[in-house]
Amino acid sequence: MSSDEKSWILDTLQELIAINSVNPANDGPGEKEKCDYLERLIKSWGFKVKRYSPKDDKGIERPSLIVRVAGKDQSKTVWIIAHVDTVAPGDLSRWDSNPFELRVEEIDDDVKVYGRGVNDNGVGIMSCLLLLRRIKNDSLVPNYNLAIAFFADEEAGSRYGMYWILENTDEFKKGDFAIVPDAGNEAGDWVEIAEKGILWMKIIVEGKQAHSSMPHLGKNAHLHSMQFNHALYERLHEKFSDENELFEPSWSTFQPTKKELNVEGINTIPGNDVVYWDARVLPRYTIEEVLEEIKAFSRAYAHLQGVNIQVETVMAEGASSVNPESWIVKSLQTSVSNVLGIKPRLIGIGGGTFAGILRKRGIESVVWSVQNEKSAHQVNEWELMSSYLKTANVFHNLFF
Ligand SMILES: [Zn+2]
Repeated sequence: MSSDEKSWILDTLQELIAINSVNPANDGPGEKEKCDYLERLIKSWGFKVKRYSPKDDKGIERPSLIVRVAGKDQSKTVWIIAHVDTVAPGDLSRWDSNPFELRVEEIDDDVKVYGRGVNDNGVGIMSCLLLLRRIKNDSLVPNYNLAIAFFADEEAGSRYGMYWILENTDEFKKGDFAIVPDAGNEAGDWVEIAEKGILWMKIIVEGKQAHSSMPHLGKNAHLHSMQFNHALYERLHEKFSDENELFEPSWSTFQPTKKELNVEGINTIPGNDVVYWDARVLPRYTIEEVLEEIKAFSRAYAHLQGVNIQVETVMAEGASSVNPESWIVKSLQTSVSNVLGIKPRLIGIGGGTFAGILRKRGIESVVWSVQNEKSAHQVNEWELMSSYLKTANVFHNLFF
């Protein structure tokens, strides 16, 4: 079975990677063509595939697929959820090969594959496909109901994927369990059971535009923005300084990230300056109290300096966690031990997976897979053949 699976993995990956599924938020074509491929393949194995195809605000079809396999014990449903979209390839000159053409490298005892999406979320997609293929080839019946999902739009906030499904369908039921193979490491020795809260903000500082030779006639929004954002950075780290060793890093993080163009000309004092922040907050703080602090701090600064500061929330998702004694945590730990011979430890991360969204809706969820943890979203994205197989083998152990 194993060598047959290896050549099947390479053939299938080659076709999958050749289909560009970059998220439209990164100016890509989206998930349609890759979902067409997956749907055809899975249907050819005799499974029913449910397809949801909402259109986004650009009019692009954003399909998600769900495949259900009835289990011996119908009282439990366990989801495995992968995502079909990818981030953009980035600077093509820094890739050693075409990101949309699978490159294969034989290494000691393994095969290394390169291409956009081989890791994120190729590990999720390929492990789910392997599981379905084994079910079909060996007429397996899972111990519990199995629900496999291939979702759209994970890389840009899941509005047309996970959130759309939750808002417009009743696919997910309270009491279901979920595994999200969208993060992990090469050893497969941790299971993620908690996520920090996420707050994305847009901070607009308004001053007064002027010629840069006459700064006294204006109010330099860029200068105030730098001063304000730096002071805010210090303030937030000081105020929300608790640590929690479950997480890496163990503290809350507050980072100014994206910067909008303020003026075209070097000789213009900017009247407006826009900076975005990405904050990842430990569960012991609420997103609301962090926002409250930011707003109070900005009011005080604006008042003192005679500028106007607006704080807008771009995205907010509270922290989440699942009980370490939960059935799904224990079962997955046991399967990892059975297959890989290691006892995985429990960890928390900076947040942002499907598991965080589902936990808050009564679906106990864990994040686990075997994958390299260095190459997601990078140029020369790579993965090992063994990662797909080990991830699938652990799922196999859990379900059969
Ligand atoms: Zn991902």
